[in-house]
Amino acid sequence: MSVDTNYTLPGNIFQTIFEKSPGSILVKTDLPRFTILAVSDSYLKVTSTTREAILGKGFFEIFPDDETQLIDEKAARHVFTKVINTGKTVDIPSYRYDVFNPDTESHELHYWSCSNVPILGDDGEITYILNTIADITEEVKARESAMESASRLRLATEVTGLATWDIDLQHHGFYYSPRMVEIFGQLPGTVLTIGSMRNQMSADDMQNIVRKSFKEALITGEHLYEIKIVWPDGSVHWIKTQGTIIFDGNKRAVRMLGTVLDITESKRDEIRKNDFIAMASHELKTPLTSLKTYIQLLAKKISKSDDPFVSNALAKAENQVNKMSDLIYSFLDLSRLEAGKLSAKLQPFDINKLINETIADTNLVNNSHTIIFNSNEAITVNADRERISQVISNFLGNAIKYSPKEYPIIVTCKITGDNVQVAVTDYGIGIKQRDQEKLFQRFYRVENERAKNISGFGIGLYLASEIIQRHKGKIWVESQEDAGSTFYFSLPVTVDGEWLAGIVQATN
Ligand code: ADP
Repeated sequence: MSVDTNYTLPGNIFQTIFEKSPGSILVKTDLPRFTILAVSDSYLKVTSTTREAILGKGFFEIFPDDETQLIDEKAARHVFTKVINTGKTVDIPSYRYDVFNPDTESHELHYWSCSNVPILGDDGEITYILNTIADITEEVKARESAMESASRLRLATEVTGLATWDIDLQHHGFYYSPRMVEIFGQLPGTVLTIGSMRNQMSADDMQNIVRKSFKEALITGEHLYEIKIVWPDGSVHWIKTQGTIIFDGNKRAVRMLGTVLDITESKRDEIRKNDFIAMASHELKTPLTSLKTYIQLLAKKISKSDDPFVSNALAKAENQVNKMSDLIYSFLDLSRLEAGKLSAKLQPFDINKLINETIADTNLVNNSHTIIFNSNEAITVNADRERISQVISNFLGNAIKYSPKEYPIIVTCKITGDNVQVAVTDYGIGIKQRDQEKLFQRFYRVENERAKNISGFGIGLYLASEIIQRHKGKIWVESQEDAGSTFYFSLPVTVDGEWLAGIVQATN
Protein backbone atom coordinates (compact mmCIF):
# COMPACT_ATOMS: atom_id res chain seq x y z
CA MET A 1 0.00 0.00 0.00
CA SER A 2 1.44 3.38 -0.92
CA VAL A 3 0.85 6.61 0.96
CA ASP A 4 -0.36 9.49 -1.18
CA THR A 5 1.94 12.40 -0.39
CA ASN A 6 0.94 14.31 -3.43
CA TYR A 7 -1.79 16.39 -1.79
CA THR A 8 -2.54 20.03 -2.36
CA LEU A 9 -4.78 22.53 -0.59
CA PRO A 10 -6.87 25.07 -2.45
CA GLY A 11 -5.26 28.48 -2.95
CA ASN A 12 -6.15 30.64 0.03
CA ILE A 13 -7.20 27.93 2.48
CA PHE A 14 -4.56 28.97 5.06
CA GLN A 15 -5.82 32.50 5.03
CA THR A 16 -9.39 31.27 5.56
CA ILE A 17 -8.29 29.01 8.42
CA PHE A 18 -6.43 31.91 10.01
CA GLU A 19 -9.40 34.24 9.69
CA LYS A 20 -11.72 31.69 11.32
CA SER A 21 -9.30 30.80 14.09
CA PRO A 22 -10.08 32.03 17.59
CA GLY A 23 -8.49 35.39 18.47
CA SER A 24 -5.36 35.57 16.29
CA ILE A 25 -3.39 38.43 14.79
CA LEU A 26 -0.20 38.21 12.75
CA VAL A 27 2.24 41.14 12.84
CA LYS A 28 5.48 41.78 11.02
CA THR A 29 8.54 42.40 13.17
CA ASP A 30 9.26 45.72 11.40
CA LEU A 31 9.65 47.45 14.72
CA PRO A 32 8.67 49.94 15.92
CA ARG A 33 5.67 49.68 13.57
CA PHE A 34 4.68 46.00 13.85
CA THR A 35 2.53 46.02 10.72
CA ILE A 36 -0.66 43.96 10.94
CA LEU A 37 -0.69 41.33 8.20
CA ALA A 38 -3.63 39.12 9.06
CA VAL A 39 -6.35 39.00 11.65
CA SER A 40 -9.10 36.58 12.60
CA ASP A 41 -12.82 37.44 12.74
CA SER A 42 -13.06 36.84 16.47
CA TYR A 43 -10.10 39.17 17.14
CA LEU A 44 -11.91 41.88 15.17
CA LYS A 45 -15.09 41.30 17.14
CA VAL A 46 -13.37 41.57 20.50
CA THR A 47 -11.52 44.73 19.51
CA SER A 48 -14.55 46.25 17.73
CA THR A 49 -12.53 46.83 14.57
CA THR A 50 -12.84 45.81 10.92
CA ARG A 51 -10.34 44.05 8.75
CA GLU A 52 -10.23 46.97 6.30
CA ALA A 53 -9.54 49.41 9.15
CA ILE A 54 -6.54 47.58 10.55
CA LEU A 55 -4.80 45.49 7.89
CA GLY A 56 -1.53 47.10 6.84
CA LYS A 57 -1.56 49.50 9.81
CA GLY A 58 0.96 49.53 12.61
CA PHE A 59 -0.19 47.48 15.63
CA PHE A 60 0.33 50.38 18.04
CA GLU A 61 -1.42 52.80 15.71
CA ILE A 62 -4.55 50.74 16.19
CA PHE A 63 -3.99 49.46 19.72
CA PRO A 64 -1.84 52.06 21.41
CA ASP A 65 -0.34 50.93 24.73
CA ASP A 66 -1.74 53.22 27.32
CA GLU A 67 0.91 55.33 29.03
CA THR A 68 0.40 53.71 32.41
CA GLN A 69 0.68 50.25 30.91
CA LEU A 70 4.07 50.88 29.39
CA ILE A 71 5.83 50.15 32.63
CA ASP A 72 3.95 46.88 32.83
CA GLU A 73 5.91 43.99 31.39
CA LYS A 74 2.64 42.61 30.04
CA ALA A 75 2.38 45.64 27.69
CA ALA A 76 2.33 44.45 24.07
CA ARG A 77 5.44 46.43 23.07
CA HIS A 78 7.50 44.77 25.78
CA VAL A 79 6.15 41.37 24.90
CA PHE A 80 6.82 41.72 21.17
CA THR A 81 10.34 42.97 21.86
CA LYS A 82 10.96 40.02 24.19
CA VAL A 83 9.85 37.58 21.48
CA ILE A 84 12.32 39.14 19.04
CA ASN A 85 15.16 39.29 21.56
CA THR A 86 14.76 35.76 22.92
CA GLY A 87 13.44 34.05 19.81
CA LYS A 88 11.02 32.23 22.13
CA THR A 89 7.26 32.12 22.62
CA VAL A 90 6.12 34.52 25.33
CA ASP A 91 2.91 33.59 27.17
CA ILE A 92 0.95 36.04 29.28
CA PRO A 93 -1.29 33.89 31.46
CA SER A 94 -3.68 36.67 32.44
CA TYR A 95 -4.22 40.34 31.66
CA ARG A 96 -7.15 42.71 31.57
CA TYR A 97 -8.48 44.22 28.35
CA ASP A 98 -12.00 45.64 28.49
CA VAL A 99 -14.21 45.04 25.46
CA PHE A 100 -16.52 47.63 23.99
CA ASN A 101 -20.11 46.43 23.80
CA PRO A 102 -21.93 48.38 21.05
CA ASP A 103 -25.34 47.41 22.49
CA THR A 104 -24.70 48.96 25.88
CA GLU A 105 -22.19 51.43 24.47
CA SER A 106 -19.85 50.72 27.33
CA HIS A 107 -16.70 48.77 28.02
CA GLU A 108 -17.10 45.42 29.75
CA LEU A 109 -14.52 43.91 32.05
CA HIS A 110 -12.62 41.04 30.36
CA TYR A 111 -9.57 38.98 31.19
CA TRP A 112 -7.41 37.29 28.59
CA SER A 113 -4.49 34.99 28.27
CA CYS A 114 -2.25 35.30 25.22
CA SER A 115 0.52 33.53 23.47
CA ASN A 116 3.10 35.28 21.23
CA VAL A 117 4.85 32.87 18.88
CA PRO A 118 7.87 33.89 16.79
CA ILE A 119 7.68 32.84 13.14
CA LEU A 120 10.80 32.68 11.01
CA GLY A 121 11.02 34.09 7.49
CA ASP A 122 12.86 32.45 4.54
CA ASP A 123 16.13 34.02 5.79
CA GLY A 124 15.81 32.24 9.17
CA GLU A 125 15.20 35.55 10.98
CA ILE A 126 12.15 36.23 13.17
CA THR A 127 9.92 37.92 10.67
CA TYR A 128 6.45 37.60 12.16
CA ILE A 129 4.80 37.28 15.54
CA LEU A 130 1.59 35.32 15.89
CA ASN A 131 -0.42 36.70 18.78
CA THR A 132 -3.27 34.42 19.93
CA ILE A 133 -5.67 35.42 22.68
CA ALA A 134 -8.22 33.46 24.76
CA ASP A 135 -11.02 34.95 26.86
CA ILE A 136 -10.58 33.73 30.46
CA THR A 137 -12.98 36.20 32.11
CA GLU A 138 -15.26 33.51 33.59
CA GLU A 139 -12.33 31.55 35.04
CA VAL A 140 -10.82 34.66 36.61
CA LYS A 141 -14.16 35.71 38.09
CA ALA A 142 -14.73 32.21 39.52
CA ARG A 143 -11.24 32.20 41.00
CA GLU A 144 -11.73 35.65 42.49
CA SER A 145 -15.04 34.71 44.04
CA ALA A 146 -13.54 31.50 45.50
CA MET A 147 -10.69 33.55 46.96
CA GLU A 148 -13.18 36.06 48.29
CA SER A 149 -15.24 33.39 50.05
CA ALA A 150 -12.08 31.77 51.42
CA SER A 151 -10.91 35.09 52.83
CA ARG A 152 -14.40 35.85 54.17
CA LEU A 153 -14.37 32.46 55.91
CA ARG A 154 -10.89 33.13 57.24
CA LEU A 155 -11.98 36.51 58.55
CA ALA A 156 -15.10 35.04 60.16
CA THR A 157 -13.14 32.28 61.88
CA GLU A 158 -10.49 34.75 63.04
CA VAL A 159 -13.08 37.15 64.47
CA THR A 160 -15.04 34.42 66.24
CA GLY A 161 -11.90 32.63 67.42
CA LEU A 162 -12.99 29.42 65.73
CA ALA A 163 -10.47 26.82 64.64
CA THR A 164 -11.34 24.70 61.61
CA TRP A 165 -10.42 21.08 60.96
CA ASP A 166 -10.79 18.52 58.23
CA ILE A 167 -10.21 14.77 58.48
CA ASP A 168 -9.77 12.58 55.42
CA LEU A 169 -11.24 9.37 56.82
CA GLN A 170 -10.00 7.23 53.97
CA HIS A 171 -6.38 8.26 53.88
CA HIS A 172 -6.21 9.37 57.53
CA GLY A 173 -5.18 12.92 56.63
CA PHE A 174 -5.77 15.58 59.28
CA TYR A 175 -5.74 19.31 58.47
CA TYR A 176 -6.40 22.21 60.82
CA SER A 177 -6.12 25.98 61.03
CA PRO A 178 -3.33 27.51 63.18
CA ARG A 179 -5.94 28.61 65.76
CA MET A 180 -6.31 24.94 66.76
CA VAL A 181 -2.78 24.95 68.19
CA GLU A 182 -3.68 27.95 70.37
CA ILE A 183 -6.94 26.38 71.55
CA PHE A 184 -5.04 23.28 72.64
CA GLY A 185 -2.58 25.49 74.57
CA GLN A 186 0.44 24.39 72.51
CA LEU A 187 3.36 26.51 71.33
CA PRO A 188 2.95 28.08 67.87
CA GLY A 189 4.18 25.71 65.19
CA THR A 190 3.50 22.56 67.26
CA VAL A 191 2.24 19.77 65.00
CA LEU A 192 -1.04 18.37 66.29
CA THR A 193 -2.24 14.88 65.56
CA ILE A 194 -5.56 13.31 66.42
CA GLY A 195 -3.67 11.14 68.91
CA SER A 196 -1.93 14.12 70.57
CA MET A 197 -5.25 15.93 70.92
CA ARG A 198 -6.90 12.86 72.42
CA ASN A 199 -4.09 12.68 74.95
CA GLN A 200 -5.28 16.04 76.25
CA MET A 201 -8.73 14.56 77.02
CA SER A 202 -9.61 12.18 79.83
CA ALA A 203 -10.11 8.48 79.05
CA ASP A 204 -13.68 8.67 80.41
CA ASP A 205 -14.60 11.62 78.21
CA MET A 206 -13.05 9.88 75.21
CA GLN A 207 -15.20 6.83 75.86
CA ASN A 208 -18.46 8.50 76.87
CA ILE A 209 -18.43 11.65 74.78
CA VAL A 210 -16.04 11.58 71.82
CA ARG A 211 -16.48 7.98 70.66
CA LYS A 212 -20.23 8.12 71.31
CA SER A 213 -20.59 11.32 69.33
CA PHE A 214 -18.53 9.90 66.48
CA LYS A 215 -20.68 6.76 66.32
CA GLU A 216 -23.83 8.87 66.26
CA ALA A 217 -22.35 11.13 63.59
CA LEU A 218 -21.82 8.13 61.32
CA ILE A 219 -25.60 7.73 61.36
CA THR A 220 -26.85 11.30 61.53
CA GLY A 221 -24.03 13.00 59.61
CA GLU A 222 -23.63 15.65 62.33
CA HIS A 223 -21.63 15.73 65.50
CA LEU A 224 -21.44 18.13 68.39
CA TYR A 225 -19.96 17.87 71.84
CA GLU A 226 -18.39 19.84 74.65
CA ILE A 227 -15.38 18.44 76.41
CA LYS A 228 -12.63 19.31 78.87
CA ILE A 229 -9.01 19.38 77.73
CA VAL A 230 -5.86 19.73 79.78
CA TRP A 231 -3.21 22.14 78.52
CA PRO A 232 0.49 21.27 78.81
CA ASP A 233 0.68 23.69 81.81
CA GLY A 234 -1.92 21.54 83.61
CA SER A 235 -4.80 24.05 83.37
CA VAL A 236 -8.25 22.75 82.42
CA HIS A 237 -10.07 24.29 79.43
CA TRP A 238 -13.35 23.60 77.69
CA ILE A 239 -13.91 23.24 73.98
CA LYS A 240 -16.98 22.82 71.84
CA THR A 241 -16.54 20.93 68.61
CA GLN A 242 -19.08 20.77 65.86
CA GLY A 243 -18.84 18.97 62.55
CA THR A 244 -20.36 17.31 59.55
CA ILE A 245 -19.59 14.01 57.88
CA ILE A 246 -19.38 13.75 54.12
CA PHE A 247 -20.46 10.43 52.62
CA ASP A 248 -19.60 9.06 49.18
CA GLY A 249 -22.06 7.50 46.73
CA ASN A 250 -21.92 4.20 48.66
CA LYS A 251 -22.88 5.97 51.90
CA ARG A 252 -19.34 5.49 53.20
CA ALA A 253 -18.04 8.26 55.47
CA VAL A 254 -15.10 9.76 53.58
CA ARG A 255 -14.49 13.10 55.20
CA MET A 256 -15.30 14.89 58.39
CA LEU A 257 -14.95 18.63 58.86
CA GLY A 258 -15.91 21.21 61.38
CA THR A 259 -14.92 23.82 63.91
CA VAL A 260 -13.60 24.02 67.47
CA LEU A 261 -14.38 26.87 69.85
CA ASP A 262 -12.80 27.60 73.22
CA ILE A 263 -15.77 27.89 75.62
CA THR A 264 -13.79 27.91 78.86
CA GLU A 265 -15.09 31.29 80.01
CA SER A 266 -18.78 30.56 79.43
CA LYS A 267 -18.34 27.08 80.92
CA ARG A 268 -16.79 28.55 84.06
CA ASP A 269 -19.75 30.95 84.31
CA GLU A 270 -22.13 28.04 83.89
CA ILE A 271 -20.35 26.03 86.58
CA ARG A 272 -20.44 29.05 88.92
CA LYS A 273 -24.15 29.49 88.19
CA ASN A 274 -24.85 25.80 88.83
CA ASP A 275 -22.88 25.91 92.06
CA PHE A 276 -24.87 28.95 93.11
CA ILE A 277 -28.20 27.28 92.32
CA ALA A 278 -27.11 24.14 94.17
CA MET A 279 -26.00 26.12 97.20
CA ALA A 280 -29.08 28.35 97.30
CA SER A 281 -31.48 25.41 96.88
CA HIS A 282 -29.66 23.48 99.55
CA GLU A 283 -29.87 26.41 101.98
CA LEU A 284 -33.57 26.94 101.22
CA LYS A 285 -34.44 23.29 101.78
CA THR A 286 -34.03 23.30 105.58
CA PRO A 287 -36.11 26.40 106.49
CA LEU A 288 -38.78 25.30 104.04
CA THR A 289 -39.05 21.85 105.60
CA SER A 290 -39.51 23.36 109.06
CA LEU A 291 -42.04 25.87 107.67
CA LYS A 292 -43.99 22.96 106.25
CA THR A 293 -43.86 21.09 109.57
CA TYR A 294 -45.17 24.16 111.44
CA ILE A 295 -48.00 24.58 108.95
CA GLN A 296 -48.96 20.92 109.35
CA LEU A 297 -48.83 21.18 113.16
CA LEU A 298 -50.93 24.33 113.08
CA ALA A 299 -53.41 22.72 110.69
CA LYS A 300 -53.80 19.79 113.10
CA LYS A 301 -54.48 22.14 116.02
CA ILE A 302 -56.84 24.35 114.05
CA SER A 303 -58.84 21.40 112.71
CA LYS A 304 -60.13 21.08 116.27
CA SER A 305 -61.43 24.65 116.23
CA ASP A 306 -64.01 25.38 113.64
CA ASP A 307 -62.81 28.54 112.01
CA PRO A 308 -63.12 27.62 108.29
CA PHE A 309 -61.08 30.65 107.18
CA VAL A 310 -58.02 29.64 109.19
CA SER A 311 -58.04 25.98 108.11
CA ASN A 312 -58.63 27.00 104.52
CA ALA A 313 -55.76 29.52 104.65
CA LEU A 314 -53.45 26.91 106.17
CA ALA A 315 -54.36 24.38 103.46
CA LYS A 316 -53.49 26.99 100.83
CA ALA A 317 -50.24 27.86 102.62
CA GLU A 318 -49.26 24.19 102.68
CA ASN A 319 -50.10 23.90 99.02
CA GLN A 320 -47.83 26.85 98.19
CA VAL A 321 -45.03 25.51 100.37
CA ASN A 322 -45.32 22.19 98.53
CA LYS A 323 -45.01 23.96 95.20
CA MET A 324 -41.95 25.83 96.44
CA SER A 325 -40.35 22.68 97.73
CA ASP A 326 -41.00 20.88 94.40
CA LEU A 327 -39.28 23.71 92.64
CA ILE A 328 -36.32 23.70 94.98
CA TYR A 329 -35.95 19.95 94.62
CA SER A 330 -36.01 20.27 90.86
CA PHE A 331 -33.26 22.93 91.05
CA LEU A 332 -31.26 20.59 93.25
CA ASP A 333 -31.80 17.76 90.76
CA LEU A 334 -30.70 20.00 87.95
CA SER A 335 -27.41 20.87 89.58
CA ARG A 336 -26.82 17.26 90.60
CA LEU A 337 -27.54 16.17 87.08
CA GLU A 338 -25.08 18.65 85.68
CA ALA A 339 -22.44 17.48 88.12
CA GLY A 340 -23.16 13.90 87.00
CA LYS A 341 -24.53 13.03 90.43
CA LEU A 342 -28.26 12.54 89.93
CA SER A 343 -29.27 9.84 92.36
CA ALA A 344 -30.88 6.60 91.22
CA LYS A 345 -31.78 3.50 93.21
CA LEU A 346 -32.97 0.55 91.19
CA GLN A 347 -35.63 -1.79 92.47
CA PRO A 348 -38.33 -3.95 90.92
CA PHE A 349 -41.82 -2.47 91.33
CA ASP A 350 -45.27 -2.52 89.78
CA ILE A 351 -45.51 0.53 87.55
CA ASN A 352 -49.34 0.50 87.48
CA LYS A 353 -49.36 0.76 91.25
CA LEU A 354 -46.90 3.65 91.05
CA ILE A 355 -49.11 5.45 88.52
CA ASN A 356 -52.11 5.11 90.84
CA GLU A 357 -50.10 6.46 93.77
CA THR A 358 -48.74 9.39 91.74
CA ILE A 359 -52.26 10.26 90.54
CA ALA A 360 -53.48 10.16 94.15
CA ASP A 361 -50.63 12.51 95.20
CA THR A 362 -51.41 14.84 92.30
CA ASN A 363 -55.10 14.85 93.22
CA LEU A 364 -54.22 16.16 96.68
CA VAL A 365 -53.56 19.51 95.02
CA ASN A 366 -55.68 19.10 91.91
CA ASN A 367 -59.29 20.06 92.16
CA SER A 368 -59.75 21.18 88.58
CA HIS A 369 -59.24 18.13 86.35
CA THR A 370 -60.42 14.56 86.34
CA ILE A 371 -57.55 12.13 85.84
CA ILE A 372 -58.67 8.87 84.32
CA PHE A 373 -56.54 5.74 84.60
CA ASN A 374 -57.73 2.18 84.27
CA SER A 375 -54.94 -0.01 85.54
CA ASN A 376 -54.90 -3.60 84.44
CA GLU A 377 -52.47 -6.29 85.52
CA ALA A 378 -49.29 -5.60 87.50
CA ILE A 379 -46.30 -4.72 85.30
CA THR A 380 -42.94 -5.05 86.99
CA VAL A 381 -40.05 -2.83 85.97
CA ASN A 382 -36.59 -2.58 87.46
CA ALA A 383 -36.02 1.14 87.82
CA ASP A 384 -35.74 4.00 90.25
CA ARG A 385 -39.27 4.22 91.68
CA GLU A 386 -38.93 7.79 92.95
CA ARG A 387 -37.51 9.08 89.70
CA ILE A 388 -40.15 7.40 87.54
CA SER A 389 -42.83 8.85 89.82
CA GLN A 390 -41.20 12.25 89.30
CA VAL A 391 -41.56 11.85 85.50
CA ILE A 392 -45.23 10.81 85.74
CA SER A 393 -45.89 13.64 88.17
CA ASN A 394 -44.29 16.14 85.73
CA PHE A 395 -46.48 14.87 82.85
CA LEU A 396 -49.59 15.13 85.04
CA GLY A 397 -48.64 18.56 86.39
CA ASN A 398 -48.12 19.88 82.85
CA ALA A 399 -51.38 18.33 81.60
CA ILE A 400 -53.18 20.19 84.40
CA LYS A 401 -51.28 23.43 83.79
CA TYR A 402 -51.75 23.48 80.03
CA SER A 403 -55.35 22.29 79.60
CA PRO A 404 -58.70 23.87 80.53
CA LYS A 405 -60.42 22.80 83.74
CA GLU A 406 -63.39 20.91 82.40
CA TYR A 407 -61.33 18.56 80.19
CA PRO A 408 -60.21 15.15 81.46
CA ILE A 409 -56.63 13.85 81.54
CA ILE A 410 -56.17 10.28 80.44
CA VAL A 411 -53.34 8.04 81.58
CA THR A 412 -52.53 4.70 79.96
CA CYS A 413 -49.89 2.08 80.59
CA LYS A 414 -49.30 -0.89 78.33
CA ILE A 415 -46.69 -3.36 77.24
CA THR A 416 -45.37 -2.90 73.71
CA GLY A 417 -42.79 -5.52 72.76
CA ASP A 418 -40.04 -5.50 75.40
CA ASN A 419 -41.11 -2.13 76.74
CA VAL A 420 -43.70 -0.69 79.00
CA GLN A 421 -45.20 2.50 77.61
CA VAL A 422 -46.84 5.16 79.75
CA ALA A 423 -48.84 7.99 78.16
CA VAL A 424 -50.53 11.07 79.58
CA THR A 425 -53.05 12.76 77.28
CA ASP A 426 -54.63 16.16 77.72
CA TYR A 427 -57.00 18.20 75.54
CA GLY A 428 -55.32 21.52 76.13
CA ILE A 429 -53.38 24.17 74.25
CA GLY A 430 -51.11 21.68 72.44
CA ILE A 431 -47.63 22.39 71.08
CA LYS A 432 -46.49 23.49 67.62
CA GLN A 433 -44.42 20.98 65.65
CA ARG A 434 -41.33 23.22 65.69
CA ASP A 435 -41.37 23.44 69.52
CA GLN A 436 -41.91 19.74 70.09
CA GLU A 437 -38.28 18.65 69.63
CA LYS A 438 -37.00 21.42 71.90
CA LEU A 439 -39.31 20.79 74.88
CA PHE A 440 -36.88 18.37 76.45
CA GLN A 441 -34.03 20.88 76.46
CA ARG A 442 -33.02 22.66 79.63
CA PHE A 443 -35.01 25.85 80.38
CA TYR A 444 -37.04 25.55 77.18
CA ARG A 445 -40.52 27.06 77.44
CA VAL A 446 -42.88 27.58 74.53
CA GLU A 447 -43.71 31.18 73.80
CA ASN A 448 -47.46 31.07 73.65
CA GLU A 449 -50.09 33.72 74.32
CA ARG A 450 -52.24 31.19 76.13
CA ALA A 451 -49.44 29.99 78.38
CA LYS A 452 -47.79 33.31 79.15
CA ASN A 453 -49.38 33.57 82.59
CA ILE A 454 -48.59 29.99 83.54
CA SER A 455 -45.50 29.86 85.70
CA GLY A 456 -42.64 27.44 85.18
CA PHE A 457 -38.92 27.22 84.54
CA GLY A 458 -38.69 24.69 81.74
CA ILE A 459 -36.81 22.20 83.91
CA GLY A 460 -39.37 19.43 84.43
CA LEU A 461 -39.27 17.84 80.99
CA TYR A 462 -35.49 18.19 80.80
CA LEU A 463 -35.11 16.25 84.05
CA ALA A 464 -37.73 13.74 82.91
CA SER A 465 -35.85 13.14 79.68
CA GLU A 466 -32.50 12.70 81.48
CA ILE A 467 -34.08 10.23 83.94
CA ILE A 468 -35.68 8.19 81.17
CA GLN A 469 -32.53 8.18 79.05
CA ARG A 470 -30.54 6.91 81.98
CA HIS A 471 -32.97 4.01 82.20
CA LYS A 472 -32.28 3.28 78.50
CA GLY A 473 -35.83 4.34 77.81
CA LYS A 474 -37.43 6.79 75.40
CA ILE A 475 -39.45 9.94 75.93
CA TRP A 476 -41.46 11.80 73.30
CA VAL A 477 -44.53 13.87 72.62
CA GLU A 478 -47.32 13.88 70.06
CA SER A 479 -49.30 17.05 69.94
CA GLN A 480 -51.44 19.32 67.87
CA GLU A 481 -51.87 22.98 68.61
CA ASP A 482 -55.26 23.81 70.17
CA ALA A 483 -56.20 20.12 70.27
CA GLY A 484 -54.01 18.68 73.03
CA SER A 485 -50.90 16.64 73.72
CA THR A 486 -49.84 13.15 74.67
CA PHE A 487 -46.53 12.76 76.47
CA TYR A 488 -45.01 9.29 76.41
CA PHE A 489 -42.18 7.44 77.98
CA SER A 490 -41.20 3.85 77.57
CA LEU A 491 -38.87 1.70 79.64
CA PRO A 492 -37.39 -1.70 78.95
CA VAL A 493 -39.35 -4.14 81.10
CA THR A 494 -36.09 -5.34 82.62
CA VAL A 495 -33.51 -2.62 82.89
CA ASP A 496 -29.93 -3.75 83.21
CA GLY A 497 -29.22 -2.46 86.68
CA GLU A 498 -25.46 -2.70 86.52
CA TRP A 499 -24.76 -0.11 83.86
CA LEU A 500 -27.15 2.38 85.43
CA ALA A 501 -25.64 2.03 88.88
CA GLY A 502 -22.20 2.43 87.30
CA ILE A 503 -23.04 5.72 85.67
CA VAL A 504 -25.29 7.28 88.24
CA GLN A 505 -23.98 7.22 91.75
CA ALA A 506 -26.46 7.51 94.56
CA THR A 507 -25.69 10.68 96.45
CA ASN A 508 -28.48 10.72 99.00
P1 ADP B 1 -42.46 24.19 82.87
O1 ADP B 1 -43.84 23.68 82.66
O2 ADP B 1 -42.10 24.33 84.31
O3 ADP B 1 -42.16 25.42 82.08
P2 ADP B 1 -41.49 21.75 81.61
O4 ADP B 1 -40.07 21.38 81.31
O5 ADP B 1 -42.28 20.76 82.37
O6 ADP B 1 -41.39 23.14 82.34
O7 ADP B 1 -42.18 22.05 80.23
C1 ADP B 1 -41.51 22.80 79.24
C2 ADP B 1 -42.50 23.51 78.33
O8 ADP B 1 -43.21 22.56 77.55
C3 ADP B 1 -43.58 24.28 79.06
O9 ADP B 1 -43.14 25.57 79.40
C4 ADP B 1 -44.70 24.30 78.04
O10 ADP B 1 -44.48 25.36 77.14
C5 ADP B 1 -44.53 23.01 77.28
N1 ADP B 1 -45.47 21.94 77.74
C6 ADP B 1 -45.17 20.93 78.58
N2 ADP B 1 -46.23 20.12 78.74
C7 ADP B 1 -47.22 20.64 77.99
C8 ADP B 1 -48.59 20.25 77.72
N3 ADP B 1 -49.13 19.16 78.29
N4 ADP B 1 -49.30 21.02 76.86
C9 ADP B 1 -48.75 22.11 76.28
N5 ADP B 1 -47.48 22.54 76.49
C10 ADP B 1 -46.72 21.80 77.33
